[in-house]
Amino acid sequence: KLSKRLEEVVKSIMPNSVIADIGSDHAYLPCYAYLNGYIKGAIAGEITDGPFQSAREQVKKTELEHVIEVRKGNGLAVISPNEVDCITIAGMGGSLIRTILEEGKEKLEGVKRLVLQPNIGAANIRKWLMEHQWSIIDEKILEDDGRIYEIIVAEKGNPLDNYNDHIEAGLLLGPVLMKRKSDIFKKKWNHELKHAEQIVEQLNKGATSSEGQVKKERFEKEITLIKEV
Ligand code: SAM
Repeated sequence: KLSKRLEEVVKSIMPNSVIADIGSDHAYLPCYAYLNGYIKGAIAGEITDGPFQSAREQVKKTELEHVIEVRKGNGLAVISPNEVDCITIAGMGGSLIRTILEEGKEKLEGVKRLVLQPNIGAANIRKWLMEHQWSIIDEKILEDDGRIYEIIVAEKGNPLDNYNDHIEAGLLLGPVLMKRKSDIFKKKWNHELKHAEQIVEQLNKGATSSEGQVKKERFEKEITLIKEV
């Protein structure tokens, strides 16, 4: 059984596509996606030896070697241009996902959809998507095992359509999520708001170094954006 988090990632894959799952660990995602009829085939990429071996064992155990290939390497280096229709990258920080996309830019040729699930720092990904003409077609926010996760689904297109006049807030909170304002979304951002307010309060107490000042301004900006939404 797949975690709710990864199941939601799978549901956002284009039907009948060939995917690359980067940072696949046990290759649970591609195996589940194939066995449940979501995909035609997959490449599971892993940079670390342990997870790479686990992925190979899982694919072997489920007898999916003919449709899921496990490859070892850094990010998108494991795929060629036009080899896959859709890329999933889940369970990492937003800045690492951003780096993987940036370093593998030329491999994105032919890729129609990205399904990205950052554990933190989703704004890094939204900025990268905006800078590279990927448009956010859907976002999800969910709670799984006591943690809140976001999923960003993007296709080639004009990113400015996502944001209208609210670029800064949209990059931080998610253009789709901030329109929908689900209960989990509110829970997350109430929590983030309190956290940011505590930091600013703390910084107000101490002597302000220029570093502290920059940090304070960053969190004050965040507070303004959250309250706006
Ligand atoms: N995607 C799975 C999930 O969401 O449950 C596994 C997440 S696990 C926390 C992150 C995995 O990404 C690790 O197995 C790690 O080895 C792999 N990883 C980290 N950086 C990577 C990179 N640059 N290229 C490929 N894999 C990477």
